[in-house]
Amino acid sequence: MFISTRSPLVPVVALGLAAAIFAVDALTPLDVAIAVLYVAVVLLSVAVWPRRGVIAVTGLCIALTLIAYGMSHGFAQNDAALARCLVSLAAIAITGFLALKGQAAALALLEREEALNQARGQLAHASRVSTLGELAASIAHEVNQPLAAIETHGEACLRWMNRPEPDLGEVRTAVQAMQRDARRASEVIRRIRGMASQSAPAFIALDVNEVVAESCDLLRRELQRHGAGLKLDLQSDLPAVKADKIQLQQVIINLVMNAAQAMAGAGARERRIEVRSFVDRDGGGENGQNGQHVDAPAVVVEIADSGPGFAPDDLKRLFDAFFTTKQDGMGMGLPICRSIIESHGGAIRAWNRAPHGAAMAFRIPVAASAVELPA
Ligand code: ADP
Repeated sequence: MFISTRSPLVPVVALGLAAAIFAVDALTPLDVAIAVLYVAVVLLSVAVWPRRGVIAVTGLCIALTLIAYGMSHGFAQNDAALARCLVSLAAIAITGFLALKGQAAALALLEREEALNQARGQLAHASRVSTLGELAASIAHEVNQPLAAIETHGEACLRWMNRPEPDLGEVRTAVQAMQRDARRASEVIRRIRGMASQSAPAFIALDVNEVVAESCDLLRRELQRHGAGLKLDLQSDLPAVKADKIQLQQVIINLVMNAAQAMAGAGARERRIEVRSFVDRDGGGENGQNGQHVDAPAVVVEIADSGPGFAPDDLKRLFDAFFTTKQDGMGMGLPICRSIIESHGGAIRAWNRAPHGAAMAFRIPVAASAVELPA
C-alpha cells in the first residue's frame, strides 16, 4: 500500500515502527544491530515534522537505543554488543544530521521559488499599470460615453415628466436606459480596477472569448487612434480554461497593442488586426518556448496583423527581456506574456504571415475539470 508523505498515517507509522524496533531490540536476544533501523523512523519524520520535530525524533531514537542496550546488557562486558550499539547510534545521528540539512535546503529552495513568483507578479503588475497609462485616453472615452448617454436619457426623462400629461411609459424606458448605461460605466471601471490591482492570481474556469471581447472593448479607442480595424473571429462553444482573468487580459491587450503599434510605426496603408479563437483538440505535438511538449487539447488565441512582420533575426529574440525595436519601448511586454502563459501551462509563439504581417498565438490547455462552462 502506498502512503503519501502528507498522510496523517505517517507519524503513526513512524512511532509504531520505533516502538517495534525498541521491543525487538530490548526484549529479544538477537545478535544484530537492529537499532540501525531507527534511521527509517528519522527519515519518515523529515516528511512530516519541521526541524524541531526531526531533532526530537532523532534524540528519541538515540535514547531508545541506549535504554534497550541497558535493558538487555546492563553493565555486563560485551564488546560485540557495545560495538553494535555504537554503530546504530552513529547511523541514527548521521541520518538525523543529513535529514536536517536536506530539509533546510528544500525549504530554502521553496522560499527562493516563492520570492521569484512574487517578483514575477510584481513585474507583471508594473507592466499592467504602465499599459493602463498608455490606454488612459481610451479608458476615459469608454467611461465618458455611457455617462454622456445617462445625461441625455436624464434630460429626455425630465421632458417626458414635465409634459402637461407625463408619459410614464417613456420615462420608464429612459430610466431603464440610464440604468443600463450606468452598469456599462461601472463595468469599465471594475475592469480597470481589476487590472490596476495587485492581487494574487485566481485560476478559475473562464470563457476565453469573453476575456478577448472585454480586452478589445478597452482597446477600441486606442485602435481608432492608430487607424487599425479589428475583426473578431471567435469560435463559439469554446471549452473553459482554468486561468487568471486579469493576466489573460494583460496578454491579449499587449499583443493587440503591439500589432497596432507595429502597423502604425511602419506607416502601413492597410491596418487590419484579426483575433481568432479556436480549440486545438490534439495540440499537434507542438513544443513550448521552454521545450516542453504541448499536446493536450487547448484553447488557442491568435492575433494576426497586416503590418511589417518581424525581421528574421528578431524572431529569435522577441521573448528576450529588454528586446525592443521601438524608440520608447521597454522590451518587457512579450517576456511577461510568455511567463504568464507558461504559468498557465501553455505556450506562446510568433511567426511571419505571407505575404506580410505578423502573427502571435498562445494556447492554454483545457482543464479536465473545466471542459464545460457552467450555464
Ligand atoms: P515593447 O513593446 O516595449 O517593444 P515587447 O516585448 O512587447 O516590448 O515587444 C518586443 C518587440 O517585438 C517590439 O519592439 C517589436 O519589435 C516586436 N513586435 C511585437 N509585436 C509585433 C508585431 N505585431 N509586429 C511586428 N513586431 C512586433
